[in-house]
Amino acid sequence: MKLLLATNNPHKAEEVRSIIGSEDIEIVCGSDLGIHVDPEENGTTFRENALAKAKAFALATGLPTIADDSGLLIDALDGNPGIHTARYAEEHGGFPAVFDYLRAVLNGKNKTARFHCCICYLKTPDAEPRFFEADCPGYLLDQPVGNGGFGYDPIFHASEPNVDFGIADPEIKNRYSHRGKAVAKLISFLKNA
Ligand code: IMP
Repeated sequence: MKLLLATNNPHKAEEVRSIIGSEDIEIVCGSDLGIHVDPEENGTTFRENALAKAKAFALATGLPTIADDSGLLIDALDGNPGIHTARYAEEHGGFPAVFDYLRAVLNGKNKTARFHCCICYLKTPDAEPRFFEADCPGYLLDQPVGNGGFGYDPIFHASEPNVDFGIADPEIKNRYSHRGKAVAKLISFLKNA
């Protein structure tokens, strides 16, 4: 089957493609179809934002669509930046400047955190949305390590399998990450649908 991935983020697209790998599912992005959709992400939950993205891309193409809304929840910051994770980096100078900002803000505090991923699947623009969610628990490092992955990966240590995402083999990240686990739930749903 062909699934449209509702993202303009090439890193997410690459990860979702390699997680889905050899399954009988072809992932296409807006750029593959020559369309650019940039929906407002003004929801108050991961689900609302994932649904807004899926709906906008599904309406533009008519294709079965999945959208990923994800973020970093830091315990000492009461779960922030959460749904505002992308914007939080922009507001603090982008990468790697936001790493210095976080190190200063979290100085002497608990560094536990988790990534969260919510995938929304819409078979048609008006279909009942299905959500697949997962977490990846860990803690934040004081100094960035490696340059693998994207976004906050260089300062994230995943508790399982006890690895820094900045130096993790992509296959390992994809097996244990929030996105990897959420996509696995989606695949199992699609296989049984
Ligand atoms: P959004 O889902 O487009 O709102 O963006 C979520 C933001 O969270 C991304 O832009 C990244 O900065 C961050 N993020 C989400 N998943 C990951 C990941 O797997 N590694 C590192 N950063 C991530």
